[in-house]
Amino acid sequence: MHKVVIVGAGQAGYQVAASLRAKKFDGPIVILGEEAALPYQRPPLSKGYVKGEAKESTLLLRAADFYVTNNIEIRLDCRVAALDRGARQVVLADGERVAYDGLVLATGGRVRTIPVPGADLAGVLYVRTLADAKTLKPQIEAARNVVVIGGGFIGLECASVASVLGCKVVVLEAMERLMARVVSPVLSDYYRDLHRSRGVDVRLGASVTEIVGESSRVTGVRCGDGTTVPADLVVVGIGIIANDDLAKAAGLTCDRGIVVDACLRTADPDIYAIGDCATFPHPMADGLVRLESVQNAIDQGKTVADAIMGDAKPYAAVPWFWSDQYEVKLQIVGLTSQYDDTVTLGDVASGKFSVLYFRNGGLIGIDSVNMPSDHVAGRKLFGAGKSISAEAARTPGFSLRAHV
Ligand SMILES: Cc1cc2nc3c(=O)[nH]c(=O)nc-3n(C[C@H](O)[C@H](O)[C@H](O)COP(=O)(O)OP(=O)(O)OC[C@H]3O[C@@H](n4cnc5c(N)ncnc54)[C@H](O)[C@@H]3O)c2cc1C
Repeated sequence: MHKVVIVGAGQAGYQVAASLRAKKFDGPIVILGEEAALPYQRPPLSKGYVKGEAKESTLLLRAADFYVTNNIEIRLDCRVAALDRGARQVVLADGERVAYDGLVLATGGRVRTIPVPGADLAGVLYVRTLADAKTLKPQIEAARNVVVIGGGFIGLECASVASVLGCKVVVLEAMERLMARVVSPVLSDYYRDLHRSRGVDVRLGASVTEIVGESSRVTGVRCGDGTTVPADLVVVGIGIIANDDLAKAAGLTCDRGIVVDACLRTADPDIYAIGDCATFPHPMADGLVRLESVQNAIDQGKTVADAIMGDAKPYAAVPWFWSDQYEVKLQIVGLTSQYDDTVTLGDVASGKFSVLYFRNGGLIGIDSVNMPSDHVAGRKLFGAGKSISAEAARTPGFSLRAHV
């Protein structure tokens, strides 16, 4: 393959380019990115960066000279508007065409916006990009009443930051428990109690009907029960939508993301898709999955670089993820969505515990709260293809580390 074009200058797009050069790929590499910034890490945007602990300069994955030294052409503020698969070209927003031999779609996702009246008022913010976080940071510092809509990872991380910064915080979550899509009730309840113990008003089963304001600026959030929660800042964290529009318009199969095979290739042999935008088969999953994690973006970037170098292998990296709220670190390994049984190790009340998830008696994932050694043991265990039965995990004195 001679020339590789990568659409999306994020975590996954950067990784393909860096891995290709590390593997001595000597053809042209072009990264086309819609944002103004060089590829950067997103996790700090809802953590250290908004809290004021991480400077913008520390977010970059690599400084500008990396791309020069490695002969990687990176074009920022550059949106790809269409794919012309027949001509093997991408079409930029200004009509310019860029030819490719191999194309990697690493377009990530965009925030799901809240479809209620008042959603466009000033002070209703989202956190996906550095530009979003730059807008949010001074507003969260100045805010008194913050309403967070959505009790998922990003919403709760923002709630913890706002609370630490001295704001009065209300979290409105539509489901009956926090992070319900991804964690077990033990975790949901632990995090509900943690946030409440820090003064955050966590309201479950709360629907939002309207965002109200004065002089175009938000003043409150109206809920389905008729109450209005005062707010001078609203942070919405209700998930993302995969950026699969380019692929869809070019006739590639999409299913809540760009569908790829085990080697991350679309039905077009010249086009791969990776990271948050890709829907793929995984040996630990039933059917196709789409993951939103740094680990997945990095490991898929490496897998595609290998494939381009002629060493295609099925993608099988063990999924893992983390979330920081206050001083509490949650680490997740495996794919837990279809569990039918759980075992809790350690003492939930002490804030140091792990929840093991099982399906049909076999271990499928582990969530660890302030238990990094369990997380590391879990990664080694899954990496080695080992399992543990729920029965064994229930044995008194059971230790994950002893099974690695
Ligand atoms: C606030 C926040 C906190 C997070 N915290 C964690 C965490 O704690 N742990 C964790 O594992 N993960 C976390 N994540 C998720 C993680 O950052 C993502 O999974 C990861 O960035 C995905 O990388 P990606 O390259 O697939 O997508 P992205 O990083 O989103 O990059 C995609 C890029 O493609 C660009 N693009 C899209 N369409 C086009 C187009 N048509 N033309 C040109 N460019 C285009 C986009 O502008 C974007 O820059 C967090 C995400 C956010 C937003």
